[in-house]
Amino acid sequence: MSAWETIIGLEVHCELKTATKLFCGCPNMFGDEPNTNCCPVCLGLPGSLPVLNKGAVELAIRIGLALNCTVAPSTFHRKNYFYPDMPKDYQISQYDQPLNAGGWIDLPEGSRVGITRAHMEEDTGKSTHLGGTGRIHGADSSLIDYNRSGVPLVEIVSEPDMRSGVQARAYVAELRAILVAVGATDGRMEEGSMRVDANVSVRKPGDPFGTRCEIKNLNSLRSLQRAIEYEAARQIDLIEAGERVVQETRHFDEQTGRTGTMRSKEEATDYRYFPEPDLVPLNPSRAWIDEIRSNLAPLPKARREHLLAAVGEVTPALVDLVATVVDRDLDTLVSAAINAGAPAQLAIARAANELDADGVLPSPASFAGTCQLEASGRLSATQAKQVLAALLDEPHGDPAAIADRLGFVAMDDGALDTVLDAAIADHPSEWQRYCDGDDKLAQFFVGKVMAATKGKANGKAVIAAIAARRP
Ligand code: ADP
Ligand code: MG
Ligand code: ZN
Repeated sequence: MSAWETIIGLEVHCELKTATKLFCGCPNMFGDEPNTNCCPVCLGLPGSLPVLNKGAVELAIRIGLALNCTVAPSTFHRKNYFYPDMPKDYQISQYDQPLNAGGWIDLPEGSRVGITRAHMEEDTGKSTHLGGTGRIHGADSSLIDYNRSGVPLVEIVSEPDMRSGVQARAYVAELRAILVAVGATDGRMEEGSMRVDANVSVRKPGDPFGTRCEIKNLNSLRSLQRAIEYEAARQIDLIEAGERVVQETRHFDEQTGRTGTMRSKEEATDYRYFPEPDLVPLNPSRAWIDEIRSNLAPLPKARREHLLAAVGEVTPALVDLVATVVDRDLDTLVSAAINAGAPAQLAIARAANELDADGVLPSPASFAGTCQLEASGRLSATQAKQVLAALLDEPHGDPAAIADRLGFVAMDDGALDTVLDAAIADHPSEWQRYCDGDDKLAQFFVGKVMAATKGKANGKAVIAAIAARRP
């Protein structure tokens, strides 16, 4: 049964976060009114000439260096095909001389995935098919937005080194974190700024690789894993039924969770690559590459290790946090709070649980201040969480001022005693059981005090007061 092994190699397209497009000065902006960021170059009008965007090359080199690739002299080619979202009928891409080649990524769980190449190319326009399922097949009409045409891309091709959907998912998550950390992309998969094609085959361990299928355009980590798992099972079923896998391009249907045929390899296009005559070879100088290398931002692995070293003990909250460190710069916040004197585990817990949603993060100072107020007992846990929520609207807000505004006055011991007295008086039998040794009931009384004080009481102080009353 489980004797099959899944083989996966991924091709990831990443849109670069430049101000302008790859070969013209049009804005590189997602979400603008369709067909407003276009010019003769990116519309492919006859006689227009491309001029390479130096900023895009720099980001592509950052990617190559971050992926441990060799950055080499490279050339651009024309990849010819006829499709409405590619108006000049060819895409400028790199073919046999990519900018970056021969690297690797180390995944957090310890495996290493080889990077074959990471080359530059331009994006196509975007088609929207109306009526039917959203695919061109069965659509009534199609709309084309050329704003994306000519946006700089880097395509990162992995070696067939992955062995499960889970590992492929971890690879894309780590790759994405690296690309975001070096400032190359915003990494928004749902907006299409990162798109993944998965090549999947199965074999018995030790056998040569089997025939692969390529699943196109997976736009979330979840879809990637589901598509791979479905596809591997499909191929295993085919082989076990005595049939064979046909090499083809497939698409993944989110609704059904299945992959289906798009086109077979026999119908696949011959792209007739030839060198782009309007662009000179790209030969970045050693000095420039070294400068880019020396300015490269810390990578996720180093940032995680730094955070772990600062904290020491590894808890589930920390593991959660570490997974999103780069995305949300949560390591910066936690380090600031620790440096300001907040207990590390408290800072981690608050960052992992209260700041995991989208939205603007509090400034390091505001976050650190909130953690300190809680650590000192000035704010209860519930109150601290509310201050963090309020900081979403004013990221640089003063936590103490926000606490005052929310009416969070630290309860003095006298007030706490009064509330606890009332709770005990209202629940004599529970109190008796607690006094008789049923420890679970401590939490019952903490709950009563918290409810009566609307969360203002400091949890640790309440627990201490309850324990002190026990005969
Ligand atoms: P193509 O030029 O057709 O895209 P490549 O040789 O460049 O083919 O491979 C594309 C991707 O497919 C790479 O990520 C590679 O690792 C992966 N790949 C190649 N062979 C297999 C296989 N047998 N099973 C799974 N993935 C594979
Ligand atoms: Mg391919
Ligand atoms: Zn343009």
